[in-house]
Amino acid sequence: MGRTFVGMPPFPVAARTALADSQLRRNLAHATGTIRGKRAGAVAELEDWEDLGAQAAAVKDRTLAHLDEHLVALEEALSARGATVHWARDAADACAVVADVARRHGIDEVVKVKSMATQEIGLNEALAEQGIAAWETDLAELIVQLGDDLPSHILVPAIHRNRAEIRDIFRTRMAAAGRPAPDDLTDDPAALAAAARLHLREKFLSARMAVSGANFAVAETGTLVVVESEGNGRMCLTLPDVLVSVVGIEKVVPTWRDLDLFLRLLPRSSTGERMNPYTSMWTGVTPGDGPQEVHVVLLDNGRTRALADEYARQALRCIRCSACLNVCPVYERVGGHAYGSVYPGPIGAIINPLLRGVGQDPQVDALPYASTLCGACGDVCPVAIDIPGVLVHLRTAVVDAHRSDTRPTAEALAVRAAAWTLGDARRLALAEKAAGGAGRVRRGRGMPGGRGAVSWLPFAGSRWTGARDLPLPPRESFRAWWRRGGGTEEGRR
Ligand code: SF4
Repeated sequence: MGRTFVGMPPFPVAARTALADSQLRRNLAHATGTIRGKRAGAVAELEDWEDLGAQAAAVKDRTLAHLDEHLVALEEALSARGATVHWARDAADACAVVADVARRHGIDEVVKVKSMATQEIGLNEALAEQGIAAWETDLAELIVQLGDDLPSHILVPAIHRNRAEIRDIFRTRMAAAGRPAPDDLTDDPAALAAAARLHLREKFLSARMAVSGANFAVAETGTLVVVESEGNGRMCLTLPDVLVSVVGIEKVVPTWRDLDLFLRLLPRSSTGERMNPYTSMWTGVTPGDGPQEVHVVLLDNGRTRALADEYARQALRCIRCSACLNVCPVYERVGGHAYGSVYPGPIGAIINPLLRGVGQDPQVDALPYASTLCGACGDVCPVAIDIPGVLVHLRTAVVDAHRSDTRPTAEALAVRAAAWTLGDARRLALAEKAAGGAGRVRRGRGMPGGRGAVSWLPFAGSRWTGARDLPLPPRESFRAWWRRGGGTEEGRR
């Protein structure tokens, strides 16, 4: 059974642990910096990049506004081409469909194309409970699976690992999963890729069933689309007899003309390539060619909940390019595991609360706060999702969800105390006087007007001063200055 995110601590706790890992920060800074540079070059080649993004956002918004109609059209087209369509309300429904198909064929081993949706529903673990082994075939996913690890990036799930760590994982773990790594394996990327290729080739040739997701589903013809870089997806989608694709309902695009927009945006925004190396498309069953039994599981799992939020539903435009992760200063320092989900980074901070709802799980409620609101994620998003705006919107939702809590948080108490103080002029005047006296004062450099700072306050002020300085209040408050006539010519003299 693989590791899961279930039971992960809330972001502030997990981030503190991650920040202590300097190797992790080095790996992340190197990887995200490289991808950022490549992406910037690929995007700069297109003069109409912004315009393409605006068009793509408009297509997604129009589609989401009539999602019911487009999904029915997709179902009809898929059924007409020989695919069996299943509707899954949640993760359990979807996993049950996949397990049932495998059981009916007596299959105990499946190969998988990299798929966020199947990770979201915990498919590998659900299949393992039924005695069915699911093998990841994407190189980075294979590294994560063999290392009994968790993915930490949408596009590069093993971004937190360096070459030497990957060599050690292959050397020690590959044999238990199939063909072993060569004894003399080095950490040369070509050697690592060759070892993975040989290991996976045996899986492709023996598997009778594959499981995939889909980047897009074209409603007008019932065509599913997977874009990838390694060719493992093409192997999975063509060699086995049975194919099950788990597709989030927001993946639907009405027409091929719409798809064209997204295929131009996605590779440049994700890997910084003009075109991704492999784009596989399949439409139901083609007699004598490829899988002869095709199932498509249309997955809700919280998407209709997100859709009900008229402002935040824009998050469902996401094409999982991961550009927002690569520019995020928070993600670059803490990595993906701290977000406690297969969707990390800025998109994870909004999509997890939207899919799962707020007010029930402290881990989910912490995510909208896992941001400095610097805005880099929103600037870089190819489908113009206002991620900072949705983060603020969700913070409001989290606060609203806890208004009736019988045990308020320290933050809520502090805000109530501030409201009480600010609600009365005399109370405010007293507080202003007291502010200069509490805590430990550091005079001097770096503060506005050279005023010095409060470097330590007792609880709950210590929640602030534990990590930052608090500028020292001016010696004279505004109201004292005003009373002695500071607002007049005379007073200023
Ligand atoms: S939110 Fe935007 S930038 Fe982030 S993964 Fe989705 S499409 Fe890419």
